[in-house]
Amino acid sequence: MAILPILKAPDPRLTKVSRPVEQFDRTLAELAQNMLETMYAANGIGLAAPQVDVQQRMVVMDLHGEDEPPNPQILVNPEVLDASAETVTMSEGCLSVPEAYEEVERPARVTVRYQDLDGVTHTRECTGLEAVCWQHEIDHLDGVLFVDHLTRLTRDRIIQRLVKEKRLARRGRDRTIRPAA
Ligand SMILES: [Zn+2]
Repeated sequence: MAILPILKAPDPRLTKVSRPVEQFDRTLAELAQNMLETMYAANGIGLAAPQVDVQQRMVVMDLHGEDEPPNPQILVNPEVLDASAETVTMSEGCLSVPEAYEEVERPARVTVRYQDLDGVTHTRECTGLEAVCWQHEIDHLDGVLFVDHLTRLTRDRIIQRLVKEKRLARRGRDRTIRPAA
């Protein structure tokens, strides 16, 4: 098992449409385990493969409550089959968009279809946080971040801050590798 580096916005790799998983093999199962480990280490509740620079349609999630045992979910090739007209607004954050939390309006109920690691297809309906998380993660597979659902102004403010932080981090790195006199 390994903790994988998480891509941070803005990054062109986060805007790509991922391809469907076709091989349900050991490599896929290992990727799923590494993604879960990476998600837990980052205190996240969901993680999509493109966030760890793998352009494949797979996401992991764990929405267990504080007093409940872990409940890891692995969803391969997930898709929304049906979404309610009724919407819900929740504050969202993202491991690829550090320290930004904004309210996003989405369908309150979705029917989703996905495969498990053995390639078996499942269909289920979900609501509440689960419905929001599914939609947020499936968006990643289509190169969409939650900030893309916000007003242009709010999105630009967040992205500009991240650009600035990346620039500062790069400068910090340069400084540390420069030999001291
Ligand atoms: Zn995310």
